[in-house]
Amino acid sequence: MFDAVLIEKTEGGSRATLTQVGEDRLPPGDVTVRVAWSTLNYKDALAITGKGPVVRSFPMVPGIDFAGVVEASDHPAYSVGDKVVLNGWGVGEVHWGGLAGKARVKGDWLVPLQAPFTTREAMAIGTAGYTAMLCVMALERGGVTPESGEVLVTGAAGGVGSVAVALLAKLGYRVVAMTGRPEEAAYLTSLGAGAIMDRGEYAQPGKPLAKERWAGALDVAGGQVLANVLAAMTYRGTVAACGLAGGMGLPATVAPFILRGVTLAGVDSVMCPRPERLEAWRRLAADLDPRKLEALTADVALADVIPTAERLMAGQVRGRVVVPVNPD
Ligand code: NAP
Repeated sequence: MFDAVLIEKTEGGSRATLTQVGEDRLPPGDVTVRVAWSTLNYKDALAITGKGPVVRSFPMVPGIDFAGVVEASDHPAYSVGDKVVLNGWGVGEVHWGGLAGKARVKGDWLVPLQAPFTTREAMAIGTAGYTAMLCVMALERGGVTPESGEVLVTGAAGGVGSVAVALLAKLGYRVVAMTGRPEEAAYLTSLGAGAIMDRGEYAQPGKPLAKERWAGALDVAGGQVLANVLAAMTYRGTVAACGLAGGMGLPATVAPFILRGVTLAGVDSVMCPRPERLEAWRRLAADLDPRKLEALTADVALADVIPTAERLMAGQVRGRVVVPVNPD
């Protein structure tokens, strides 16, 4: 038996509890992993609180990420004792996830733990940080360089945003951090933000084209914020869009695309092909300052994950959360 967060269907929706489950209940898969560390992402909080339609099969162990040690393997690439990491692939949505003592998955979904990271550091990064890196890579593909001009990061005090600020600053960009939490200005500056912008500035509908300001932008908000970001991009600027923290809609016009050649690059971490995942982890090892990673990370016990998910949905969690399950 091992501890697990379990989400069960109820008449009115769903309910998450911390419980004990037996190994015989683990889903099919060719690799069984003893989870060392897991984490809590926005999507996990949506699943646990039932505020978003993330879980597509009940009962479900949430947790779109885990890092741990292989306990049993029928997969040629993995042997007992190997340290592995999982991000995405529908784990925690349609296949039992990482907020439990053990997980059983397809070996093809795993990546080896990237040196020099520990399993805890890999989860401090988690899907949020790996997505931040995918966004940085999308900006680079769009031709955005530190010399191009300022880069905006929205939702900067959240998980994706915090890692993005740290990464972009280390790469030499001048980063403007947009936040709805002005009290986090010192934190964002310590991660490398050159300036702080109040989220309220982009809360209302603006003009189809605003004054050109951002050479690049990394957006976790969507909605009105993204529409206003698009309108303020410089000529041929690129926006990497990965989130919907501010809404699913996009009340924008095509003006930035057809008059300024702006690129809106979508970023998905869940089904991202393996070569790009491996490249993102390699880049994280090279470009993320481990001291900044530590500064943006807080530990939350598995027993406290459910109330923390409520706080995360209320925008009260700063940076990244790591969950010691069987810490090594
Ligand atoms: P998080 O830690 O909860 O951070 C979200 C941040 O968004 C908050 O901290 C807040 O930042 C900001 N925010 C909250 N409400 C907002 C609003 N109404 N308007 C604008 N900004 C708002 O979540 P996360 O893990 O970083 O994830 C961020 C987003 O990226 C989520 O939508 C998530 O689903 C998405 N995501 C997508 C992928 C993918 O594969 N595409 C992967 C990972 C995450 P401030 O407090 O600084 O304002």
